[in-house]
Amino acid sequence: MKKQLFINGEWLDAKEYTTLIAPYSEEKLAEIAAASPEDVDAAIDAADRARAQWAKTPAHARAEILENLSNLIEERFDETARIISLEAAKPIEMAKTEVARTIQTFKFAAEEAKRIHGETIPLDAAPGGERRVAYTVREPIGIIGAITPFNFPLNLVAHKVGPAIAAGNTIVLKPATQTPLSALHLAQLTQEAGLPVGVLNVVTGRGSVVGDRLVTDDRISMITFTGSPSVGIGIRNKAGLKKVTLELGSNAAVIIDKGTDIDKIIPRCIIGAYSNQGQVCISLQRAYVHESLYEEFVAKFIEASNNLKLGDPLEPATDVSALISKNDVQRALNWIEEAKSAGAVVATGGEAQGNMLRPTVILEADPQMKVSCQEVFAPIVLINKISSVDEAIDLVNDSRYGLQAGIYTKDVDVALDAVEKLQVGGVLINDIPTFRVDHMPYGGVKESGTGREGLKYAVEEMTEMKLVIWNRN
Ligand code: NAP
Repeated sequence: MKKQLFINGEWLDAKEYTTLIAPYSEEKLAEIAAASPEDVDAAIDAADRARAQWAKTPAHARAEILENLSNLIEERFDETARIISLEAAKPIEMAKTEVARTIQTFKFAAEEAKRIHGETIPLDAAPGGERRVAYTVREPIGIIGAITPFNFPLNLVAHKVGPAIAAGNTIVLKPATQTPLSALHLAQLTQEAGLPVGVLNVVTGRGSVVGDRLVTDDRISMITFTGSPSVGIGIRNKAGLKKVTLELGSNAAVIIDKGTDIDKIIPRCIIGAYSNQGQVCISLQRAYVHESLYEEFVAKFIEASNNLKLGDPLEPATDVSALISKNDVQRALNWIEEAKSAGAVVATGGEAQGNMLRPTVILEADPQMKVSCQEVFAPIVLINKISSVDEAIDLVNDSRYGLQAGIYTKDVDVALDAVEKLQVGGVLINDIPTFRVDHMPYGGVKESGTGREGLKYAVEEMTEMKLVIWNRN
């Protein structure tokens, strides 16, 4: 199967193609067009030509297209989940959850399209401002370059395409090389949903070629990027005066205070740690457990980890499948080895089975070990003993990242204190950090990024404010 570029509503050949391989079965899935810089230019041209007309399209019409898109995904639910599962090795039940969330994301986008507005400003609050009427309007920002990662190949594309369409922008999208099929499937559905040609263009190919061209072209007004901190920082350095939002990685943590019901939270912690093989930006990587509960938590967490079923992502019973690449399996094993030789205890897991890594629990890891201070992006969890929540907060904050953090506590003062002190974009009280619904503001501080997604917040990022003043003097 050959997958072409989607430019100006047409499916176009590229000069080169690369073979897409399924991470679990290693079967060949498709031949994917590798766009040249000229192909990217053609996509930007198309987005540029579509821009003026699309920006004038009424809100109700933009909302209707988004609503149609949401409905079409619902109609093609199983097919869509299968595409995600095959190209990303995402266990099928989780792929279905991603499809369900994408349906929501486009519904929220349709709703947001109808409430983009500014505000009135009381200019007479300043001497000299008398008898002037002022208000702001929000205008589309222009052409958006969207660059997306492999781990939620549909919903994270939706988090860029949805608000961009809602706000009246045109888009050139570059999906991750390992997961282009979900994005191309979505492009097909946008056509069926009635999106005018040129509003969405999808160019597949290498990040260093396609991504770079998007980031450096002057006609693109904004880059919205989700991916790793190193690539994100590189983009920021090259983007000049373009607006840039960066949704980057993390080594998310949960704090478990004394008095917590361990049996109740173990299933949540297991989901947080191992969903999608730990390849989630808010995956639970570090657990800081009060000394009074540490032994119980460790024993029960290990038992639950060992009960997980490894295997084919298309099998409904599979909990954990292949990592996205062999390199990532090797990287995870190297980091585990480094931790072990520096004195940490690998309490379970620590081995690969084909391209899968067995769920791995590491105890007594120092904060400077790679498994602790970098983003593992694999089914690896560290459990550490703490004697107070304050100590745990310092350990959570001792990180380059700050996306979300969770704390389980029965003490209101402790919870409020944690909210104040944790250096993250979102604090979850009595939950793991691994929680997201699609309309909430989502994003991080420090090397976890800048800007927020979540439909209302992304629309804000994707529009420019214009001030209007009427002089009645
Ligand atoms: P990645 O390697 O940074 O890739 C992300 C995207 O950037 C891909 O489309 C990639 O293309 C492209 N890219 C690579 N080099 C580029 C360059 N020089 N210029 C422009 N674009 C370039 O990340 P990933 O491995 O796909 O995804 C995992 C990362 O995403 C993790 O760090 C995770 O935490 C983060 N993430 C963050 C969030 C959030 O909302 N905060 C959500 C999900 C994931 P190629 O595929 O062709 O290399």
